[in-house]
Amino acid sequence: MEKDLTTDLVVLQSHLEAMLERVQQNSATLRKFQAFEIRLLKLNALSDIIDHLLEEAKNYFDLDVITLCLIDETGEIARTLKDNGYPYLSKKGLMLLDSKESLKSTAAQPYIGALEPPHCADFFAHIEKQPASIAIIPLTRRDKYLGTLNLGSYQTDRFADNMGTDFIEHLSSVVSVCLENNLHVEEIKRVSYLDVLTGVNNRRFFEQRIGEELKRSQRNAEPLSCQFFDIDFFKSVNDQHGHQGGDLVLSLVAATVRHQLRDHDVFVRYGGEEFVALLSNTDEIRALETAERVRKAIQMLVIAVNDISISVTVSIGVSTFVPDGKSISMDDGIVARLIKSADSALYKAKHNGRNRVENGGIVSDKQVLKV
Ligand code: GH3
Ligand code: MG
Ligand code: MG
Repeated sequence: MEKDLTTDLVVLQSHLEAMLERVQQNSATLRKFQAFEIRLLKLNALSDIIDHLLEEAKNYFDLDVITLCLIDETGEIARTLKDNGYPYLSKKGLMLLDSKESLKSTAAQPYIGALEPPHCADFFAHIEKQPASIAIIPLTRRDKYLGTLNLGSYQTDRFADNMGTDFIEHLSSVVSVCLENNLHVEEIKRVSYLDVLTGVNNRRFFEQRIGEELKRSQRNAEPLSCQFFDIDFFKSVNDQHGHQGGDLVLSLVAATVRHQLRDHDVFVRYGGEEFVALLSNTDEIRALETAERVRKAIQMLVIAVNDISISVTVSIGVSTFVPDGKSISMDDGIVARLIKSADSALYKAKHNGRNRVENGGIVSDKQVLKV
């Protein structure tokens, strides 16, 4: 009798110890999860969120593979990542999909269990060693399907179909909120940098980018050129063809210049009928050649306003920053001198008869003091 009791006690004790161990494990997992969440919520850039999910989450959750599918029907996510210099095309585990249909049919609900190709293999495409067990977690927010977060382990029993989904649902909600929030911020930024009339970027964008372009120019020891454009006698276009006619001319002139420049060149409507371009890695000669090409393209442009064909011309001022290859400190003075120099050259082009390009010359790191 006494022996039976002792045996029961020993069994009970070992149950208790096993339970305690489980509790300790669970609370350790919870702490890791909370740390992961806090870190995720603190990130401000989409690229950082993606990296956190693809790289760091593996350590937090002790996983072998993580991939992320994001729906990008408008190409906005790709553009944002590209603008931030993020190598989204070569990033292993990141998939941007232009349609939600393919994903929705396979992953409307979470899937937890063994990797079952061909049903699940697409979620781990381009991953050398395929996981044995997986969790496919749909990311949704306010009825919008954002994509899926896909967790994988080489252990077959890591994700089993009898597992509770509490953790998965919680993770899905947190990641979805972070992604949606960030995509909204990026959208607001994009819209705030656009000129509504012409569809090209605005002056706010220019102010934000010129510092970055200057730093890049100094870092790479490459010249940076600036072009100021002003439509000639634009007031008389408004006077003769009305404001709507003027608006149409502004839009077409902007589109024509944009078409003449490279994709990565900054081109903005600076205000009224004035535009500015920043040409990275472009020296004085090439900047003057480009300006001349733009000037001719505008001159050739025939715009139909109320059945009347009109044409306009532009005057262009050019300036070029040539770094000395040593200074990498940010100097606001350089930006001001670069702009002033192009603006003065534009003034000269107006003064010398309009429909022409003038060179404001070279701006260097050190201001030359004239005595
Ligand atoms: P110049 O050759 O010396 O540059 O002469 P200009 O007539 O082009 O220059 P001015 O500065 O006298 O006139 C610019 C005009 O641009 C006046 C303004 O009404 C017009 N303008 C500015 N913004 C807009 C706009 O958004 N739409 C239209 N239609 N006109 C605009
Ligand atoms: Mg003007
Ligand atoms: Mg003008």
